[in-house]
Amino acid sequence: MPVQKRKIVALLTGLVCLSFGVFAQKVIQPANTNPDWSRPYPPFQIAGNLYYVGTYDLACYFIATPQGNILINTGLAESAPLIKTNMETLGFKFKDIKILLTTQAHFDHMGAMAAIKKMTGAKMMVDAGDVGVVTDGGRSDYSVGGNTSTYAPVQIDRILHNGDIIKLGGMRLTMLHHPGHTKGSCSFLFDVKDQKRSYRVLIANMPTIVTDKSFSDIPAYPNIARDYAYTLAAMKKLSFDIWLTSHASQFELQRKHKPGSGYNPDAFIDKKGYDAQINDLQDQFLKKIKGK
Ligand SMILES: [Zn+2]
Repeated sequence: MPVQKRKIVALLTGLVCLSFGVFAQKVIQPANTNPDWSRPYPPFQIAGNLYYVGTYDLACYFIATPQGNILINTGLAESAPLIKTNMETLGFKFKDIKILLTTQAHFDHMGAMAAIKKMTGAKMMVDAGDVGVVTDGGRSDYSVGGNTSTYAPVQIDRILHNGDIIKLGGMRLTMLHHPGHTKGSCSFLFDVKDQKRSYRVLIANMPTIVTDKSFSDIPAYPNIARDYAYTLAAMKKLSFDIWLTSHASQFELQRKHKPGSGYNPDAFIDKKGYDAQINDLQDQFLKKIKGK
């Protein structure tokens, strides 16, 4: 090989290695996860065209429309085949997923997102506050971040801001920016209907506190206390019929629903349970800022 050509090859090889060094990110999903996070749960129709396709505790929601489907949250990395089977059990095609959403960019809701995006070609839409973590697979997360990604990074197709509307096949989902748990945690508010009536559904990201550190001790998130206060105030004002959350245990799925018991959307009407949890989170927040 002529010297000139060898130099070019060496230069190109160097560039390739360099770019791998920069872009190839090691993904290590935390090992000490709750067994309920991967435990299967039978999929079911919640209300109208809204379905539950998640695990025993990691809630994944599926909205079917004539123009394709929306998937909210994925659970852990290994949940992709489970979600696919759940959707097929309900009679839907996995490849018809057109839009991917998440309520918070932690590995227990984002684990299989990159894989599902690859399998379906769906568009990933993310709250502006979580763009950084979605892009680096959670490495820059202020509480659970570190040197490695905790989930495979996902390419973002649309950045969402508070009040933005996600439209597909007659559905209109309003994204509500509810930061604190992550910088871009969010909830979704929308209407579904069946033959009898329509239901306003809130898929809420409950503002649980993840960090043991004092709020003033988190340089990666200087506005954390202000964000939690904002989210708690905003969530108190919401009105809806059906209340669902990122973790099934938060809205007590297993108390409200018995597998095989049939269609019963009214089981998820529980404003009292929601208010009690928001008040409890408010207390935890006040204790935290008082340093107790
Ligand atoms: Zn989380």
